[in-house]
Amino acid sequence: MKDLFVGLDLGGTWLKYGVAGADGKLLARGKKPSHGQESREVIFGVMEEAVAEMKAATADVGQLRAIGVGSPGIVDYEQGKLVGGAPNLPHWEGADIRGELGRRTGLKVYADNDANVMALAETRLGAGRGARNAIFLTLGTGIGGGILIDGELYRGSWFAGAELGHVPIKFDGRKCNCGNVGCIEQYASAPGIIQTYRELCEAAGRTCPDEVTTEHIFGVADEDKEAAETIRLTAYYLGVALSGFTNVFNPEVIVIGGGVAEAGDAFIRKVEDETKKLAMRESASRLRVVRAQMGNEAGTVGAILLAAEGYAKEKEGRA
Ligand SMILES: [Zn+2]
Repeated sequence: MKDLFVGLDLGGTWLKYGVAGADGKLLARGKKPSHGQESREVIFGVMEEAVAEMKAATADVGQLRAIGVGSPGIVDYEQGKLVGGAPNLPHWEGADIRGELGRRTGLKVYADNDANVMALAETRLGAGRGARNAIFLTLGTGIGGGILIDGELYRGSWFAGAELGHVPIKFDGRKCNCGNVGCIEQYASAPGIIQTYRELCEAAGRTCPDEVTTEHIFGVADEDKEAAETIRLTAYYLGVALSGFTNVFNPEVIVIGGGVAEAGDAFIRKVEDETKKLAMRESASRLRVVRAQMGNEAGTVGAILLAAEGYAKEKEGRA
């Protein structure tokens, strides 16, 4: 019987989940509404159901050994607990993921921030496969980040490290919901890119369509001057942030995921060019900036790897 691990990727709207061995190759998967607006009890109930479903689906293949969870918010990895609140999950503040889910399932539980978990998937099995030192950035409604140093996730002193979206790139820039101004999240997240486009359209004296999306902006860039300028500026803003990360961490690879990265490799090349232009030559010379490969499965597979690696380390410690 194989050792199996369940991965849970918790979001405000959906809980995505899957089961696999330590290789992360999914044997079964699923998706349910997470009921993120409701009480913790309700959310834990959905998670418990998902684990039971994965257990039933693989009963003849192997034995569940542990659960990995990727959660929004800052997660104390040692305790498996939320440190503060979580965006889009109003009642998730301080949630004891390890304690509560462990009690309900009888399994060991490992929990981490969702972007850290995605970074793990991309650097173990995805676009950053094999890297010892890597930076991961996910560009969506917000910006999440993960840092891999010597093959291990870097979590900081109080698990609040790798908040790469809140690195300021403009000291007199846009207000950020973290309380600071000019964070890269305000410029290279989907809403940030749309705001740049609106500002450029306004300055050019034209009206911007109401329902503008980043897909639209990337799609019309060949014939729309403001859209092209938005993309150029976004790549430059990212280059400012990524060149800073490059000078600090000297990573082999920077992996960019999330909905905005779906815009394609041409955009990623622009970001790479800007990064290399701005970073110190010695640090950037062999750096690769690449588009994430794991897509929607990064969170689920990363949570499985988190559980498998945590379980293996604990077993080693006991041996
Ligand atoms: Zn911020």
